[in-house]
Amino acid sequence: MSGKNMVLICDCGKQATIKTSWTNRNPGRRFYCCPSCGFIGWTDPPMCCRAVAVIPGLLKARNELEEELEEQLRLMREKDQQLKKLNKFFLLSWARNELEEELEEQLRLMREKDQQLKKLNKFFLLSWG
Ligand SMILES: [Zn+2]
Repeated sequence: MSGKNMVLICDCGKQATIKTSWTNRNPGRRFYCCPSCGFIGWTDPPMCCRAVAVIPGLLKARNELEEELEEQLRLMREKDQQLKKLNKFFLLSWARNELEEELEEQLRLMREKDQQLKKLNKFFLLSWG
């Protein structure tokens, strides 16, 4: 008996559904139930007591790990969101800096033009005066 596609025919002739038990007494032991007559029986041999002792602990550890992973994933998503917000902020401040530099440059050019204009005015004033 192996694989997920195992098909079991009940004594009544209908195909039985195979499920896996996760009780502490039969962790991981497969059983079948007939949807027609409701017959239930084990497909796997009885659990050895070592498996019964070990598997629930393993399951519990797995579940704890899964929860831990889920929590870490949640934290990572939170950090990712924060990072995205931060990136947006940096992008904005970077754009602002660019604009400020551009503005500064234009102001410098305007002052230069202003100086040239003043020199020109002085020249005209001198030549007309
Ligand atoms: Zn049946």
